Amino acid sequence: MRRGEPVLQVRELVKHYPLTRGVLFKRQIGAVKAVDGVSFDLYQGETLGIVGESGCGKSTVARMLVNLERPTSGRILYKGEDITALSGRALKAVRRNIQMVFQDPYTSLNPRMTVGDIIGEPYEIHPEVAPKGDRRRRVQELLDVVGLNPEHINRYPHQFSGGQRQRIGIARGLALRPEIIVADEPVSALDVSVQAQVINLMERLQDAFGLAYLFIAHDLSIVRHISDRVGVMYLGRIAEIGTDAEIYDHPTHPYTQALLSAVPVPDPDAREHRERILLAGDVPSPANPPSGCRFRTRCWKAEERCAQEVPLLVVPEAFRTAPTPARHASACHFAEEKRVVPAEGELT
Ligand code: ADP
Ligand code: MG
Repeated sequence: MRRGEPVLQVRELVKHYPLTRGVLFKRQIGAVKAVDGVSFDLYQGETLGIVGESGCGKSTVARMLVNLERPTSGRILYKGEDITALSGRALKAVRRNIQMVFQDPYTSLNPRMTVGDIIGEPYEIHPEVAPKGDRRRRVQELLDVVGLNPEHINRYPHQFSGGQRQRIGIARGLALRPEIIVADEPVSALDVSVQAQVINLMERLQDAFGLAYLFIAHDLSIVRHISDRVGVMYLGRIAEIGTDAEIYDHPTHPYTQALLSAVPVPDPDAREHRERILLAGDVPSPANPPSGCRFRTRCWKAEERCAQEVPLLVVPEAFRTAPTPARHASACHFAEEKRVVPAEGELT
């Protein structure tokens, strides 16, 4: 559950990758706008789900948050401090608190390293967290915490199943006792039967250690049970953000409505009463996104205004007096219940 203050504030984050032509004399002919103005807050101990189709920029956001990628512009604040401007020791100290769990446990673990070395690797970069003589014991403790046998510390990744490998990835993420875990589609590569086990583990760890999760998925059904709030991304921007209940029961952005209509419903009665929204066309290229609202080329509500004006995240009036994190915001000129007030995450 969410408690207290934001641990992470992301403001107008942008990542453009240059598109070049030529081999010897590279010329920039444009840019892939992978992330193009993303803002959100992550609160202590909460889970913010980030959902969107493949290619919408989720992993790029994740990589910027853990410093694997430098933002083109925008700011990332950790407990109020702008960490995009930090370097050297100050950066290292902050980064310890923000760790990543990767998508594919088959390719993200070095096959030539033992599980003990993989989980203990972060201590090489941050020796101050665990003195050398203490590391083996700590790694065994971590194995135990994620539900693996501490006696398997000398085994190699191939000796474990997919779900177990992701537990190893999670143990490595926990080694430095971070406050924030950025989990980039942590269960997408796993069998459905194993997904729930890994998600349950992550929930238990969150309670035990007070972790904040940014939990990325390409599908709204996966994040439903773990998220306190959900942000829906489309082509490098957030289309809608709100609490779990708001997003799933009262989506106001047409894109969220379409995504939800594609989520399987187990109850046959409910299924009958639901309309499946089929979106026209494909996602446009992030090198050449539509003017105005990026979703307009596939939206049944689109009008002239949508091509002219970029819709900002706005909060329906009904939510205006709620505490900031409960706010529900939708970047649509024709969002249901739309009445404009500035949203969480908008710069003043
Ligand atoms: P997601 O994780 O939502 O599937 P990504 O963040 O991986 O999306 O990618 C967003 C967009 O940026 C995609 O169009 C992808 O092809 C592009 N992209 C990602 N990384 C790079 C890169 N290093 N160079 C150029 N384009 C990239
Ligand atoms: Mg990705």
